[in-house]
Amino acid sequence: LFAPGADFLKGVVAMEGLPADDRVEVCFAGRSNVGKSSLINALTGRRGLARASNTPGRTQEINYFTLGETHYLVDLPGYGFANAPVAVVERWQRLLKRYLSGRAGLRRAFVLIDARHGVKKVDEEILTLLDRSAVTFQAVLTKADKVKARDLDRVLDQVRGALGPHPAAFPEIVLTSSETGDGIDVLRGIIATLP
Ligand code: GDP
Repeated sequence: LFAPGADFLKGVVAMEGLPADDRVEVCFAGRSNVGKSSLINALTGRRGLARASNTPGRTQEINYFTLGETHYLVDLPGYGFANAPVAVVERWQRLLKRYLSGRAGLRRAFVLIDARHGVKKVDEEILTLLDRSAVTFQAVLTKADKVKARDLDRVLDQVRGALGPHPAAFPEIVLTSSETGDGIDVLRGIIATLP
């Protein structure tokens, strides 16, 4: 899939900087520290490709990667930083709104959810933005290795319940661990076979 691998293309801070809208595109969203960089690195098979995004200063950038000749993988700015200034949050909202409604190639958003915590209040805003932009989104649970098998059903029920009211939610939830590699091939397969 996607040989010879992914390459970082560019980071953009405004719609004007986006590459040509001529590929199948998927985007990844999630609150800071959810494991988004780790997942993108696992998915693309390249270490250090998605730089750690743990500082509020990096929250504003949309990072584009090419997957083979046909796909873009888009790393959206993380959200939910404690003490983020209002101006930063508003800028994130504006950029996200414009991005989500402005890309014809965008087929699906993957919203990352920590498997230990389920969907939190801080995630609701992006889910609502995705509904309003009519971008189908799929929940991807991260750090599944940190959850005991017997606790998993409860988390999945919570996530299903939280996604229930969202018309843009895709029903199937993907369980992943960047640590063990679980679910990474499944996610790759989903991306590769998007219509
Ligand atoms: P980001 O801020 O969403 O990009 O999150 P990172 O990818 O930087 O990950 C945040 C922290 O969670 C780091 O300490 C990672 O090592 C850890 N982490 C990420 N994915 C996993 C995982 O699948 N399993 C475990 N156990 N830890 C993970």
